[in-house]
Amino acid sequence: MLLPDTERLKRGRAAVIECPVTDCRKCVSACGFTAIAVGEDGRPFSDPDKCVGCGGCAAICPEMAIRLLKDRGDGTYEVTVPFEGALPEIDDTIGLAPFGSGEPAQGRVIQPIPKRPGAFSALVRAVAPAEIIGG
Ligand code: SF4
Ligand code: SF4
Repeated sequence: MLLPDTERLKRGRAAVIECPVTDCRKCVSACGFTAIAVGEDGRPFSDPDKCVGCGGCAAICPEMAIRLLKDRGDGTYEVTVPFEGALPEIDDTIGLAPFGSGEPAQGRVIQPIPKRPGAFSALVRAVAPAEIIGG
C-alpha cells in the first residue's frame, strides 16, 4: 500500500485504495476529479495531488476497499472508513484496520455519514492514534 506523503496528509483527506480485484473499476468511474487510475496490475490507485478527499469512491466500492486518511496535526489521524450495519454515534469507539506497517487501533467516532442513494455503504469518520500508520 502506498500512502500519500506526510505533507499531503496535512493538507486534507486523501483516498487510500487497497483493491482486491482487477475487474471492477467502479471507483475510477465514480471519481469526478480523475484522481483514480488503473495500474499495470489491473488495480486502481489514487493520485493524491488530484484527490480532494470527497469520499465518493469509498462509499461506492463494493469491496469496502477504500479509506480516507488525514493528518490532524496533533499526533492523531482522521480515518474515514466504509461502514455496514447500524451507524455508531459520535464518541463511540470502533476498531480500525492499520495502514501499511501500522497497528490496528481503536478510533473515536467524530462523524457518522449515512449511506447515500446509489452508494454501497455508509461512511464513518474517526480519530485514530499515529500507530495506525506506523508513526
Ligand atoms: S476521495 Fe473523491 S476525489 Fe479522492 S479519489 Fe475518491 S472520489 Fe476521487
Ligand atoms: S470500486 Fe473497490 S473493488 Fe472496485 S476497482 Fe475500485 S477499489 Fe477495486
